Amino acid sequence: MDYRPIDHSFLPIGTHLIIKNPSYKIAADNNTIIHSNNPEDVIIIEHHNDELFGDIKWSTDLLNEKEVEAETADDFQSYGDDYFISNNYTAAIDEYSKGIELEPQNITLLANRAEAFLRLSQFRNALGDAEIILKYEPNHIKAAFRKGKALCDLKRYHEAIITLQDLHQRLETDTDRSNAPIKQSTEQLLEHVKILASENKNGKYDYTRIINEYCERAKIRKGSRHNDEWIYKSGPRLDHTDFLFEDIEIRSVEGKGRGWIAKCDIPENTLLMVSKAFSVVYSHEVLRHNMQSNITSDKTTCIASSLCNEELITRVTQKLLEEPYHCQEVYQLYYGLNLGKPDKINEHLVNVDIIGNIIKYNSFVLESGIIVENDLNGVGLWILPSYFNHSCVDKNVSLFLLGDLMFVRSLRPILKGEELLISYRSADSSYEIRSRYLNSIDIDCKCRLCELEKSEAPETTYRKTQLINTFEKLIKPKILNNDDPSLIKRIEKIISELRNLRKEHPDLEFDTLELNKILSFVYHKNGNPKAALSILKEVYNLYKNVHLQIINYIILDILSLCIELKQMEEAREWFDIVLKRLTGPILGKFEDEVNWKKEAYYVAEKIFPVMNSKAKLLGLISDNFN
Ligand SMILES: [Zn+2]
Repeated sequence: MDYRPIDHSFLPIGTHLIIKNPSYKIAADNNTIIHSNNPEDVIIIEHHNDELFGDIKWSTDLLNEKEVEAETADDFQSYGDDYFISNNYTAAIDEYSKGIELEPQNITLLANRAEAFLRLSQFRNALGDAEIILKYEPNHIKAAFRKGKALCDLKRYHEAIITLQDLHQRLETDTDRSNAPIKQSTEQLLEHVKILASENKNGKYDYTRIINEYCERAKIRKGSRHNDEWIYKSGPRLDHTDFLFEDIEIRSVEGKGRGWIAKCDIPENTLLMVSKAFSVVYSHEVLRHNMQSNITSDKTTCIASSLCNEELITRVTQKLLEEPYHCQEVYQLYYGLNLGKPDKINEHLVNVDIIGNIIKYNSFVLESGIIVENDLNGVGLWILPSYFNHSCVDKNVSLFLLGDLMFVRSLRPILKGEELLISYRSADSSYEIRSRYLNSIDIDCKCRLCELEKSEAPETTYRKTQLINTFEKLIKPKILNNDDPSLIKRIEKIISELRNLRKEHPDLEFDTLELNKILSFVYHKNGNPKAALSILKEVYNLYKNVHLQIINYIILDILSLCIELKQMEEAREWFDIVLKRLTGPILGKFEDEVNWKKEAYYVAEKIFPVMNSKAKLLGLISDNFN
């Protein structure tokens, strides 16, 4: 097997399962396995369902030897503590729960169980236990702290602040020195919750700090066994929170199900949403060492992506089993037409079939905007961004990913009633590639580009393919090692014919983008930087409002040519253009030009690591800038 075994907290030893219609099979490693074809036939039941299992004696060593002797709440506490110390929180909770059944007001058991719930991210359960303790013992310091922590993780920031401020005040006057560590933790947590509350309420994010956090947490240590490990335990999953701009809402959209709509006019670069992933999986977390070394090969990429998807299904399932109150928001996402109508889905039952489909239709591929040492691939599920519909050419919203945080901004002014759109596939990929993908997720795109391409005569499409193939096979391989001027004529001829094939819609003709970039390169190579520059400027002017990644590279080329031609004033203008394009999706637009630029330089260098060297060449920043 090429992937990690399932996390033990998913199905801990001793979990009771009912498997309908099981069959026995021999697995690849020659072990026998119990196999079920239908995920719905596997039912996980509560740990101690005496109605079903009261008379059954289990032979699982771990549970049995202890169960025989255990009688008092103290015994259960000590078993629970043992499990807790070995990080087996699920089993610890089981033991504490048995003790609490005997003594429902046992404060120590409740407090320990609350902490175990927190470790498993079961925040509602943790809050429940903490509140019971505080009912009996209102001054219980640890319970108050755990209540504050659970409230924070449940995104109930206002209540968390009140709880923690109250605790903080009490600890200020507390003379017990053993409370010093919790006093410090309370101060830290309180400060952190205040930041989250401001992010959540006002959309105020400290971008430089968050980007630094991301770069730090994306660092990987080569693992001693077979896997690489994050240096920071949770990897690039950031302790920041969601924000939602009040003037957008989800409405039904004809022919598309549901979508995000502007409730009033929205200016360019407005922060519309920050969304924390429901769950993300990085390929490092599922791949073995030896596979990562050749992650560039297509086969490995393909395996990595399917393993990431499987792991994401597992983690979403796990999260829903632990916190079933999330089922509703997850099951409301689109999951195809084959699994019955939504009202037939039991909203409290974890259904792996549906989760698999939800991930198929809604997951986002991780493409971080920031370049880090290790290329981070992976896949994630974000709930609210899943409602953005697609357009190949007319997207008006940008997504910027930092770890599991997704920042969403308007790319241009948006009018009241307009739908907010993103691109699932870029307009510069071919109709065939785009529509194959879009059809696989039930989308029949009716954007300007798709409508045009659907209506084009087959001979036109055929000729286009022919021209592109000629370029790819006969011209492109010669470019790097050859400065034959006749190449210029041949590329120009192809560009002119391609443009002519779509002369009614020059702004929807994307095939010549890369060709023009290459043509400019060949002119430059043949000692004509002025012609190279003018080609790129023309391309920029034609496509500046279409948000394609290649345009940023074209501007960087323009910038280099301007510097080479000693047109410094113009170069500075191009530097500002690319700076705004690169950093706008994360930083937005700032009134204060001086401070905005300082922050933007810093961020742009992280997105395009050549930016600082360009800025230095232009004398925009000094050598010791950092
Ligand atoms: Zn389209």
